[in-house]
Amino acid sequence: MPITTPFPAGCEGAVSLTFDDGMQSQLDTAIPLLNEHNLKATFYINPRGDDFMERLQPWRAVAWAGHEVGNHTVNHPCSRNFSGNPEGGLESMTLAEIEADILEASRRLRALIPEQEVFTFCYPCYQDYVGEGVNRQSYVPIVAKHFPAGRGKGEIANHPLTADLAYLSSFPVERMSGAELVGLAERAAAQHRWTILTFHGIHQGHLAVQEVDFRELVIHLARQRHRLWVAPVVAVAQRLIEWRKTARR
Ligand SMILES: [Zn+2]
Repeated sequence: MPITTPFPAGCEGAVSLTFDDGMQSQLDTAIPLLNEHNLKATFYINPRGDDFMERLQPWRAVAWAGHEVGNHTVNHPCSRNFSGNPEGGLESMTLAEIEADILEASRRLRALIPEQEVFTFCYPCYQDYVGEGVNRQSYVPIVAKHFPAGRGKGEIANHPLTADLAYLSSFPVERMSGAELVGLAERAAAQHRWTILTFHGIHQGHLAVQEVDFRELVIHLARQRHRLWVAPVVAVAQRLIEWRKTARR
């Protein structure tokens, strides 16, 4: 049956909770809380090092619980403007090099979690280019070629018909209060859009949100699930891809 609405029946908008960098506090705090309330989220990890299969074992159970474990590259390349090293960073990479890193990360994720058939991509440091100045080139087309969606950064909730799935807007939410997090989630319903939130640490670690504030959001989403569709990025993207086939006619 063709999908005739962007969100499931009764839902006014969609919300995806995304977590970057495979941090321990996500395993310790966020995932148990999400599982307790039967909410599914997306976790973007870096399968780096020769020991990635051992080190990343806990993420297998995360995927088995119904969460998405997505691609955040192997080496997490960001602008040299962070490091100050004139030799390094995205500015010194080619499109072929970034594509090789991304494909290697996908290969390792499939080795780690063979049951997970499809997953999305997350831009390290939200940056989507290689080179600099007149030689700067977007690598969004590479992400578009290999993934149903790529998560970036932006200050809007995504329009279901017109958002570029290869570079989705997502709100960075570090240090926000519970009320602010709920407000962003509710924007999805008010605007009939898809709100994506980007988390890093929960309660501890870099760019953290306090546990009490995260809990407030989770409880709100659990209570409002009949009108707010809470789903991993891959699930919302796949539905929108199908829906757009009819909506754009
Ligand atoms: Zn990252």
